[in-house]
Amino acid sequence: MKKNKEAAKAINCEEAVMSFNDFIDNYLKGKARDELVKHISECRHCFERFEFEQLLKSKVHQLPMSKKNQPLISRIEKMIASL
Ligand SMILES: [Zn+2]
Repeated sequence: MKKNKEAAKAINCEEAVMSFNDFIDNYLKGKARDELVKHISECRHCFERFEFEQLLKSKVHQLPMSKKNQPLISRIEKMIASL
């Protein structure tokens, strides 16, 4: 059992990724927020994924949600799916 190593990371990568949207939208508070920040600072994989999500979200928010943008949105969804 590698209990000590597990304890060093309060949350795992899966949990971190699931919290990204809440964090970016500022819904994440207190301990959950601290744990995510800690995980991202220690985990290169999640850090890169987080930067990408943040960039993507800011780009999506700049777009007017009209039908003209549907092809772009499906392209972004494919990009996410292929990660
Ligand atoms: Zn991670």
